[in-house]
Amino acid sequence: METSDGSHGKMYGVKMRASLGGAHLSGAERIVSARRVVSTLAALARRALGHERGVPDSINLKVEAQCDILRIKALPVITETVADEAAGWARVGEILSDAGIKRTNEICELFRETYPMRGAMLLDADTLERLEPDRKRGIRATNMDSDPSSPADRKNHFAEALTLASKVLSAPGIVGEVCMSDDPSYVTGYVATKDCYHRISVMKKVGEPVGGRIFLYRGPREAVAETIRYLERQAVVVEREHATRLPRADQLAADLAAVDAAGLRREMRVGFGGLVSFADNDYLGLACDSRVKEAAARAVAEYGAGAGASRLVTGTLEPHVRLERHIAEFKKAESAVVFSTGYMANLGAITALVGRGDVVLSDKLNHASIIDGCRLSGAEVAVYPHLDMDALDQMLSEFHSARRILVVSDGVFSMDGDMLDLPRFLEICRRHDALSMVDEAHALGVVGRTGHGLSEHFGCGFPDVMMGTLSKALGSSGGYVAGSATLVDYMRQKSRPFIFNTAPTPASVAAADAALSLMEEDTSIVGRLHANIASFSDSVADVPNVRRGGSAIFPVAVGDEREAVARSKDMECHGFLVPAIRYPTVAHGAARLRVSLSARHKESEISALASMLRAWYNTSQN
Ligand SMILES: *Cc1c(COP(=O)(O)O)cnc(C)c1O
Repeated sequence: METSDGSHGKMYGVKMRASLGGAHLSGAERIVSARRVVSTLAALARRALGHERGVPDSINLKVEAQCDILRIKALPVITETVADEAAGWARVGEILSDAGIKRTNEICELFRETYPMRGAMLLDADTLERLEPDRKRGIRATNMDSDPSSPADRKNHFAEALTLASKVLSAPGIVGEVCMSDDPSYVTGYVATKDCYHRISVMKKVGEPVGGRIFLYRGPREAVAETIRYLERQAVVVEREHATRLPRADQLAADLAAVDAAGLRREMRVGFGGLVSFADNDYLGLACDSRVKEAAARAVAEYGAGAGASRLVTGTLEPHVRLERHIAEFKKAESAVVFSTGYMANLGAITALVGRGDVVLSDKLNHASIIDGCRLSGAEVAVYPHLDMDALDQMLSEFHSARRILVVSDGVFSMDGDMLDLPRFLEICRRHDALSMVDEAHALGVVGRTGHGLSEHFGCGFPDVMMGTLSKALGSSGGYVAGSATLVDYMRQKSRPFIFNTAPTPASVAAADAALSLMEEDTSIVGRLHANIASFSDSVADVPNVRRGGSAIFPVAVGDEREAVARSKDMECHGFLVPAIRYPTVAHGAARLRVSLSARHKESEISALASMLRAWYNTSQN
């Protein structure tokens, strides 16, 4: 075939190896057409130079014509999420055993011996005899690429591992492979068999710089040499499935149909429709309080419907300044800054505080706005198990090299209603010199005798970054970040959702300010909410699927998505609005009803709801 560059469709293997201080630092390879050789060399060099462990002393680039290229299909992939490395290795054993390999415990033991090797151990799958000619070097599977290939200037652990495993398992006699990266921050490994690539989420502890690889061989001794030749010399292109593109009109509709099929369609209702709402977050009933509404109306009359510009231009009006001072005072902080929504406050705080080279630790069940903030920040994100302070402590001790560490948690978890152990959290963060951040969206106006939040509840100190919303107990809309004067100054200079957003409307900040005043002046408002929480909590003490965490949120465990929707409909027929919460708000199969209480609720409404939940639980048990 004659091509425009006259290369007759010739293909080239392009390899990069970089070293630092005599040790291997980075390596990668591609199989490309002549036309792409130069750009691939540049991309691979960039990758070597940008390596996070340091700048290389030497970069070895090699270009070699490849003929006789074999095209094979990529292995199908299953991702298995496991709790820890012990569970990960238990799965490795099970998967190998399912593939007809017997001495799995011994194989897992032998894996440690591969740690110092550059290549893989080649093991007879039955006798466990070592077949590699050079035990120090091991077998190096190379000369491969995938199609479509991933970008050459960045490492993609998964794509490269899948390419390698697909080649290895296509080699004659190879029946299995176990692999773990030596990258200390990459704990995901895999076990591959002839028909599947099993991605195992955790195979070692974060921070461990050990990794290795075993190839399992089954076949005659005379054929081992050919297997090694194939692994080390045969050029292979692994074809990954190309997605098929639907006609334009169907591209989105297909995904929507899948949402319907999974029972996950969500409908928007208009208003409460005369139902008693146990669905909203207007915990103190202030959204419709006449004094709050009047404050909003006055602000509209005086300052207009919109603020007209961003805060740093001309959007800062008297009501903004007043509210920020008020929040700072209320939170016993030096200063506070208001955002247009709570969502933006989280995004704005996290992305301003951490970036590339930093680490953010986040509770598994944190609110979506925290998760999005973490992702957008570019920092390394480490998720710790829900409310597991021991795990948090342990993980923090593994990140001493980070420039800055932020630990962020919901104060009250929005879908579970349980509460952070703030004193313990603060102690751990302080000990590790990590910034602490707590989101009090569901705590402000709810937790603590006078609704001041977790610090009041526990009688303890304050997190470095106190985030909360104006949209829940304060019945308006917006969010805030409170803390030291430096922190708030920093937010105003660095936080993009603060800088590049039109200031919150005069009405919403004035309403929040008025609601905050009401809450402080009349402590019976928070008192009524507390009485309702205590009353409901007592009434459902004998209903085991209702969780009581001391907040205004009570999840009622259901499990199945459709069942939860049916239950919610049933409640509606009885005049109560109790929403079904499903994936993606909570995990698949963890669907629930979510009851949220308000100071507005009457005793009769609360006891009627409790009776219904009890009756339903009792029938579901029979
Ligand atoms: C509601 C909520 C937010 C977002 O607040 P909005 O003002 O609705 O944007 C943030 N964090 C938590 C925990 C929430 O529940």
